[in-house]
Amino acid sequence: MSTCIFCKIISREIPSEILAENEYAISILDLNPIHYGHALIIPKNHHKDFLEVPGNEIGGIMSLTHAIAHALVKTYNLQGFNFFSNNGEIAGQSVFHFHIHVTPRYPNDDIHFQLSLKKYPDGLMKETAQRIKENISSIK
Ligand code: 5GP
Ligand code: ZN
Repeated sequence: MSTCIFCKIISREIPSEILAENEYAISILDLNPIHYGHALIIPKNHHKDFLEVPGNEIGGIMSLTHAIAHALVKTYNLQGFNFFSNNGEIAGQSVFHFHIHVTPRYPNDDIHFQLSLKKYPDGLMKETAQRIKENISSIK
């Protein structure tokens, strides 16, 4: 038996407000929303993070995310929204079953990603791109 809260939501062992589902993913309302309508898109199979999601499931997950983003914009007449995913404890993940957040945004809603942006010193941008490119295994 899974102890994962999202697996239990998917199997209907625990209740949630389900918005929609397709073959690969389900979308529910987040219990503690940033704004009302904040939705989660969760793959039906248990994968702890984005890296573990097999390629054949990505399309279905993203297509449900796209449909939910459209629905939120229409429902609340939004000027904008964020979608994001926390992967790993250090990145703020608290439920270790991969999911994507989609949340409405409003003017002056006082939500800030506090970033201190860097500049690349001479040459480091090219070197960085080169290092990453060497590790890209497959692109479909
Ligand atoms: P994370 O912190 O992993 O990026 O996001 C987990 C999200 O799941 C949180 O925003 C949290 O509010 C939501 N969440 C946790 N437990 C439940 C639950 O039992 N039901 C619902 N609907 N959302 C949950
Ligand atoms: Zn799970």
